[in-house]
This record gives sequence, structure tokens and C-alpha cells, in this order.
Amino acid sequence: MERVISSEQSGFDDSFEQSLRPQTLKQYIGQETVKDNLSIFIQAAKGRNESLDHVLLYGPPGLGKTTLATVIANEMDVNVKMTSGPAIERPGDLAAVVSSLEPGDVLFIDEIHRLNRSIEEVLYPAMEDFCLDIVVGKGPSAKSIRLDLPPFTLIGATTRAGSLSAPLRDRFGVPLRLEYYGEKPLKEIVTRSANLFDVVIDEGAAMEIAKRSRGTPRIANRLLRRVRDYAQVRGNGSITSEIANEALEMLQVDSHGLDHIDHKLLLGMIERFRGGPVGIDTIAASIGEESITIEDVYEPYLLQIGFLQRTPRGRIATQLAYDHFGFPAPETVN
Ligand code: ADP
Repeated sequence: MERVISSEQSGFDDSFEQSLRPQTLKQYIGQETVKDNLSIFIQAAKGRNESLDHVLLYGPPGLGKTTLATVIANEMDVNVKMTSGPAIERPGDLAAVVSSLEPGDVLFIDEIHRLNRSIEEVLYPAMEDFCLDIVVGKGPSAKSIRLDLPPFTLIGATTRAGSLSAPLRDRFGVPLRLEYYGEKPLKEIVTRSANLFDVVIDEGAAMEIAKRSRGTPRIANRLLRRVRDYAQVRGNGSITSEIANEALEMLQVDSHGLDHIDHKLLLGMIERFRGGPVGIDTIAASIGEESITIEDVYEPYLLQIGFLQRTPRGRIATQLAYDHFGFPAPETVN
């Protein structure tokens, strides 16, 4: 079953997410520091009639990186072309996208850490000097041709800034880190989305959804959609606090936004490994998931809310996790 609180995008979300995407910096809720920085850089670039410096957006999935790329293009009054690291397989694929850019346009590359090295090398001169050296032909008759490009802004997005090669990272003038959202901005996002859906929601219900959204707008919108269904079938369509609580209970999302997989992971650590330290591979084997899925999908939020700690000897379930499940404190803190 698909996890309702997964921060990963699923095909199902596509058109739904499009309809909720903010278009301007003003509509983009939260991330105040990022917005303050960006609005200065955008105004300065526009004032000089130049393209915006290349921007690197990094942070967990669902926090609004793609949305922000569209917002930046709108604020700069330019077009945005979207692609992703895995979609650019050969230098020719990159040449095809960049040569279609108009001056000042934004090229958005999602999952930029997944670009292969040979493409990265073609990208460096494109970012620095707005030109592309590509080799045509093979063997002795191969020759390199240089294509001049219009000035453009590359916006790279990644969930793993650490996996980016240093030379690529250094070529972004504006690196911006997106943070998990607090309850207040998430509540605003839920209320805004409910308005766009023409659904009445009370303040308590919006807050309840916000609290259980793991700091992530994508999850907040997805929970809202499920709660809206529940309100339509079990109520009169309006989302009251009572309806929201019932629906979230049915979805098995607890007061911290944790679901059965988080429970299995944390309870497994507490009950079988006395809270740790325990290695990621052992945890993975004990709950039947891949280590990489745990590291990328489940763990970041548990670390963020302080339920889990990473140590050189392995993961530790913290006092907060023990409290959440009503277990007494572990005897020794490792
Ligand atoms: P990412 O690219 O980081 O995975 P997205 O940009 O696709 O995330 O955002 C997921 C969804 O969350 C979007 O469709 C958008 O509706 C919503 N969203 C993200 N950030 C915001 C925000 N700051 N304000 C309002 N809605 C947002």
C-alpha cells in the first residue's frame, strides 16, 4: 500500500500538485530566509538586466524545490524548462534542452546529484561561459564543436547535497537549503489549498493536519485530500476538527505524523535492541526495508524531531521516542 505520509511524489499526485502550486514568492508560504535572499538576488538581476545566478536548492523531498523553481522563473518573467538528472543520459540530451533556451530562461534539473560525470563535464562550460563543447562523430573523424548559448539560469534540486561533486556544487552562485516547515506555515498551506478546492475547513482541523504532516507541504496537501474525501462521505463536506481527527485516525497517522512503518522501526529498536546503538542494516533487515529507503525516506524526519540520533556506533532511539510510546526511560544512555 502506498504510504499516505510518504514525502516522495507519486504519479497520482501530479495534476493535483500542479493545481496547488504557488506562482509567486508572495504565495509561496514559509521558508522566509530563502525568500528574503531570493527576492534581493532577483531584484538585483532584474535591475541589471542580467540572468539570475545559478541556484542550488537542497532539502528533503516535498518541501517545495520544484515549486520554487517555477516561482523564480515567474518572478524573473522568463520561461522554465524542466528535466532531471536521470533523464539526461547523453551529452546530446543536454545539448537539446539548453539549445532551446531563450535569453534569461531557467533550466531546472531535478535530482541533479544523479547526473553522470560525463554530462557534468559538459555542463561546467555551459554554466560558466554559456557555451557547449560537444563531440560529433567517432574515432579519428570525431571533432569537437562549440555552441554558444544564451545566458540562462540553472536551478538544480537535490535531496542529497553531499552527493554532488565539489566542482559542480561550486558553480552554483546561490546555494539555498530548504528546511522542514513549522506548524504555522503548514497550517497556512492547508488553508490555502482548502480554499483552492472550495472546501470549508475550521482552524482546528487545519492545525491538526499541519501537525501530522512531517513538516512537509506535499504530505499536508495529500492528507488534506484524504480528509476531504472522508468529510464528503461521512459528514456534509466541511472539514471540522472532529472530522479531521477521525479521518487521520483511520489513516493511522499519529499525533506526530508517524505511521505504522515509523512505529515498527522505532518500537523494533526499543524492544529488540534496547534503544540501540544499532546499525542501519540491522534495522533495515528487521523491518524488511532497504537501508537506503530508511536513510532517505524515514530517517530524516525522525532525526529532525529528535526521536532518533545518528552516532558512529549506529542509530539510537532517544528519550523522546520512549516517551512517545509510553515506555520508561532506557536504563543506560549509550
Ligand atoms: P519538491 O520539488 O521539493 O519535492 P514540490 O515543489 O513538488 O517539492 O512541492 C510539493 C507540493 O507542495 C507542491 O505541489 C505545492 O503545492 C506544495 N508546496 C510546496 N512548497 C510550498 C509552499 N512554500 N507554499 C505552498 N505550497 C507549497
